[in-house]
Amino acid sequence: MVLEAISKNFFLYLSNNKVLDRLAKRYGSRFGADKIVGGEKFSQAIPLIEQLNEEGLEVTVDHLGEFVNSEAEAKERKQECIETIQSIAHNQLNSEVSLKLTSLGMDISEQLVKENMEGILAEAQKYGITVTIDMEDSSRCQATLNMYKTLKAKYDNLGTVLQSYLYSTEEDLKDLHPYDPYLRLVKGAYKESGKVAFTEKESVDENLKRLIKTNLLNGHYTAVGSHDDAIIDYTKKLVEEHGISRDQFEFQMLYGMRNQMQKDLKDEGYTVRVYLPYGEDWYGYFMRRLAERPANIAFAIKGIFSK
Ligand SMILES: Cc1cc2nc3c(=O)[nH]c(=O)nc-3n(C[C@H](O)[C@H](O)[C@H](O)COP(=O)(O)OP(=O)(O)OC[C@H]3O[C@@H](n4cnc5c(N)ncnc54)[C@H](O)[C@@H]3O)c2cc1C
Repeated sequence: MVLEAISKNFFLYLSNNKVLDRLAKRYGSRFGADKIVGGEKFSQAIPLIEQLNEEGLEVTVDHLGEFVNSEAEAKERKQECIETIQSIAHNQLNSEVSLKLTSLGMDISEQLVKENMEGILAEAQKYGITVTIDMEDSSRCQATLNMYKTLKAKYDNLGTVLQSYLYSTEEDLKDLHPYDPYLRLVKGAYKESGKVAFTEKESVDENLKRLIKTNLLNGHYTAVGSHDDAIIDYTKKLVEEHGISRDQFEFQMLYGMRNQMQKDLKDEGYTVRVYLPYGEDWYGYFMRRLAERPANIAFAIKGIFSK
């Protein structure tokens, strides 16, 4: 337990290290990242999406990239997102899009991120593609939700994420109710202090169950983003008990995680969406996955030694 906590903190610390991020990019060594990342370019992800679609799984693609420092870079990211959307439509892929507001200039200016998001959402709307704003660390949570509310008034093809480890999330869920939100509910992946977040797994899990229940009973579309059997079983029982239709919710899992479970759920008739990240900035994402699950470290080590 203690070792697990140390390794979690260690990898979360590494995930935020900009020097290592640059080194990882420069030397391009993937350290086994290709098991959970769909390539550095969207064109490499296309055959993977086609394969997943053929297996009856839906997809959301995420163009990785968190450390954006200039307006020009943020605009480049917007353009890449737009091209990804066009490519999804052109190749008739069954895929949505996920993105992070920091990659579109959130740390530079609110106006910039709003303009970039509007460009992306207008393009996605043409093709009926939903865009989900991932949730980043707690310091950006309220700004992200404010942006979600502003944009949701104009674009219906927009979702976002709430994290059950934050104390504030229950209130945030209530606050979003009038917006008929499309929400992905997750436990949360960033390093947060006990001042803002539950530190005990049990409380995080219980809060996630409460959020799933509230959002579903409020009649809103709910994506349960978890690999945890207990959460998945809870959701199945809940929807059964309350007669909630299968088109009001879905399960989402990360690419490369619990592949058999993804297929089993699909075979049971549930909608399953695979979150497939791609892009050169795989480093922070990869480190957060190592932090979550020590077993993931095994394939990273294998990757290092097989280079
Ligand atoms: C689709 C998706 C999108 C996400 N988006 C965000 C986001 O926007 N912001 C954010 O902060 N976080 C996001 N996350 C990450 C999320 O917050 C959690 O950090 C992550 O999902 C780990 O929590 P868990 O519920 O999957 O299970 P955990 O609490 O990590 O694990 C619970 C149990 O589940 C089982 N388990 C978990 N993983 C595996 C595995 N790979 N193989 C076998 N068994 C396993 C094990 O029994 C484990 O003990 C996302 C997660 C998913 C799935």
